Amino acid sequence: DSALRAAAELVREVPDFPEPGVLFRDISPMLADGPALAAVVGALGRDFRFDVVAGVEARGFLLGAAVAQAAGTGVIGLRKPGKLPEVADRVDYTLEYGRATLELPAGTLRAGQRVLVVDDVLATGGTLGAACRLVRQAGSDVAAAAVVLELTALEGRDKIAGEEIRALLSV
Ligand code: IMP
Repeated sequence: DSALRAAAELVREVPDFPEPGVLFRDISPMLADGPALAAVVGALGRDFRFDVVAGVEARGFLLGAAVAQAAGTGVIGLRKPGKLPEVADRVDYTLEYGRATLELPAGTLRAGQRVLVVDDVLATGGTLGAACRLVRQAGSDVAAAAVVLELTALEGRDKIAGEEIRALLSV
């Protein structure tokens, strides 16, 4: 729709970040714009049935909280290691360069809940895949994994085969 197309114009392309040769997509200006934020938040969760939102640190927190508020659900922050006082579970995964971990805070997700996983960008799929594994290991269901932007050339979708994926924009 036209609001999403206008929002897409606010994604900045930053060459050579975080390392030479990588073209980073920065959605910060999109989040800073009221109509653009409303368009992406509305579209991320539309028509999905979910009991709670799980947002991936850090831009997934901003989007996830807004989606949850609009839907009247709670939000869970899936965190990078070393931040949580009590960890319910963790998943280690491989990134293009090196390894990473996501942690589920204690006392948040309940077995059987339907979870909408939210992040900003789907790149290689390692992060979103790990987030979905955390949800499933807790005995909960992934309603869908929703992102603003998918970098299709990296084929990250293949790493989360079996999950419903929604990308609002793709390049
Ligand atoms: P993946 O695990 O390779 O799919 O990378 C996804 C994670 O890295 C997400 O949490 C994103 O926030 C971040 N990321 C990777 N590439 C970009 C980018 O071009 N722009 C913004 N975030 C990115």
